[in-house]
Formats: sequence, structure tokens, C-alpha cells
Amino acid sequence: MAISSTVKTNLQKSSWIRKMFEQGAQLKKQFGADRVFDFSLGNPNIEPPKEFFDVLQNEAAIREPGRHGYMANVGYADAREKVAEYVSEQHGLDLFPEHVVLTCGAGGALNVLFKTLLDPGDEVIVPSPYFVEYDFYISNHGGNCITVPTDEGFSLNTAAIAEAITDKTKAVLINSPNNPTGRIYSAEALRELGNVITDASQRLHREIYLISDEPYAKIVFDNAVVPSVLQVCPNSILVTSYSKDLSIPGERIGYIAVNPALDPLDDLMSGLAFAQRTLGFVNASALMQRVIARLQGVTVDISFYQRKRDLLCGLLQDLGYSFVRPEGAFYLFPRSPIDDDVQFVQDLQQEQILVVPGSGFGRSGHFRIAYCVDDAIITGAADGFERVAKRYGLR
Ligand code: PLP
Repeated sequence: MAISSTVKTNLQKSSWIRKMFEQGAQLKKQFGADRVFDFSLGNPNIEPPKEFFDVLQNEAAIREPGRHGYMANVGYADAREKVAEYVSEQHGLDLFPEHVVLTCGAGGALNVLFKTLLDPGDEVIVPSPYFVEYDFYISNHGGNCITVPTDEGFSLNTAAIAEAITDKTKAVLINSPNNPTGRIYSAEALRELGNVITDASQRLHREIYLISDEPYAKIVFDNAVVPSVLQVCPNSILVTSYSKDLSIPGERIGYIAVNPALDPLDDLMSGLAFAQRTLGFVNASALMQRVIARLQGVTVDISFYQRKRDLLCGLLQDLGYSFVRPEGAFYLFPRSPIDDDVQFVQDLQQEQILVVPGSGFGRSGHFRIAYCVDDAIITGAADGFERVAKRYGLR
């Protein structure tokens, strides 16, 4: 088939989730859907809140000329104003609509950003483990993804990031709360990272940007707080979406919020509008812009995921698995009892348990459990987790 060799190679590289999906479908056929414990996908399993449906119905019912027409590529000014007010309040600095671009989810936002920022060969530093799509988002726009491992507890290693900065570095991309670890990077680590980036920009006479991808920022547990990236350096950019916290990933709505002190601000904002248009997104969904404008601060019931985290962590801890307790998002990233995480994931598959090997996220010796699933899947998988644990000498 005459597809590009790059896409062919990337299909191979990204085959883990696809493989799990295919094997999952096969297992479900063989054993029945209720006997397969599928933890492979990060698809929220709670319905959107009532407020979403109320506002959606209300907005969809309005008929007025031009309501479904093209608009400014960055989105409706009044929707951006609502977002700017919310971000200002949350981050303690003054953003205005001109600092916000509404996007087709966080994935769309990152592609718009990288198209705007990257020249061929530019480097984007990403702490690992990390959301694997970053590799593709970066290479889509000619960049190279440079991974820098976090420490054992998945905290940022700012010294290692500082060392990885070169005269090709354009950005550092972090994700907190993190997919796959559930880790929230601390205020201190963020401050250090901000200083590292500001110092390196000055030393190398080159603007370097700190991008924080935060689609899970509102899915945090035990009153945890996600420290503000916009507070730690002028060249900071927040990317997020409503996919996870309103449970509407299919609706494709999110935004980019840019620090008003960023340099050069006007160039960046014009570039983002151009990228949004020429990538073919044109603008984020008109209806969804109107809906989210009225839902700032509204979320699904976060305790729903916290209870699942507690259920899963309790169960795996009793079986002797070791892991860092997630502070947010809906993923757990336990250590595999054997070094070969791919083998371990295959062992779990024999028990009809589907998880993703840590190597797929740039950290072998671990595996990812997406616990945005029914409680029955978590409890139903307990026996399988136990049998495999015993085989490898866990308690
Ligand atoms: N960033 C991270 C870390 C994610 O986990 C995901 C989706 O799982 C995305 C971005 C993409 O989010 P969206 O659906 O808003 O494009």
C-alpha cells in the first residue's frame, strides 16, 4: 500500500494501544465482554454533568442568522473572555481574550502550538514516562522529541532537563497530572524548571517555551492542587481541554492560554491563528465554544475517580504490587514484578486483563492501568492480578 514510509514507521511505533485494542476485541469475542477486564483506554466512563446537557440543549435551540458560520480562527471573543477570566482567577494573573485560542481538544492545541513554534530539527524536551502521542505531534511539525526520565517517584528531574537543553531546544513540554503516572509536579519543581528555562533562554539567546498540557488539572484527589505553570516563567503556555473533566472527548474542545508576558506575544498569537486555519481545524466547534463558555469551573463528580483509585490501589497493594499512589488523572503506573513489562502484560492477558506496557510510555518495567472503568471490572480483575502476582513471588 502506498502510504508514506513515515506513517508506516509511526504505525509500528504506536502499535501498543492498537495491539491491545485488537487483542481485546478478540478476547471479548472468545470469552464474552463481561469476562474481559479492559484497562487499556483513557476514555472517561462517567457521563457529562447535568449542567452540560442543560446548556447544550439551550444553545442548540437558539436560531439566529450566522450562528453556524465561520468565525475568527481563534474562536468567539465572548467565549475566550470567559476562559480568560477563569484562567486569570485560577492562575492569579491577568489574561484577556487575546491570550486565549479555543482549539479542537488538547491534541489539536498541541499541534497548533508545534506548527507555530517548530522549525525542522527543533527539539522539544519531554519528561518520561509520557503520553506517547507527543512524539507524533512533535514530529508532525518537523521537531524531535527528546525524553528525559523523571526520578523513581516520577517527579521532575530539573537538573537533567537543564542538561538536555541545547541550541536546538524550542520547548519543554510537561503534563501534570500525568498520563500515565497520575503524578502532579510540585510547585518547587515547577519553579526550578521555570528558572532553568529562563536562564537557558538568556544564555543561548533563544526563546525557549514551557508548555504545560493539563487536561487532567481538575481531576485531582485529596484536595491536591496543580501549581500554576503561568506563574513560573514569562514564556509559559497552558494547554488543556474539557475532554476529561466534562467527559466530552468526542466533542473536541479545549484551549491554549498564553502568558501575557511571553516574548514575542503578538507573533505567537498570529501564528496560532494561522496554524489553526491551515491545519484544517479552521476553528473549534462553534456550538461547543458557546457551551463551555457557560460551564467554566463545572466538572464531573471527581470523587467518582478518587473512589476507583482507592479501590484499585487497595486491591493491588494487598497483592504486593508496588506503585506511586496517583494524585490525579485516572491512571495507575505500577512496577512490573519482572523487568520485562511486555512479558508481564502478556501474562495478564492470559487472565483476560488488558493493560499497556510501560515501554509504550517510555518507561519499561512498569505497566499502565486506566481505571476509568466500572468498579466491576476492577473487582473482577482481582483474581487474575493475584494469580500472576503469586507466580512472580509477590506477597
Ligand atoms: N494530553 C494528554 C496527556 C492526554 O492523556 C490526552 C488524551 O488522553 C490528550 C492530551 C488529548 O486530549 P484531547 O482529547 O483533549 O485532545
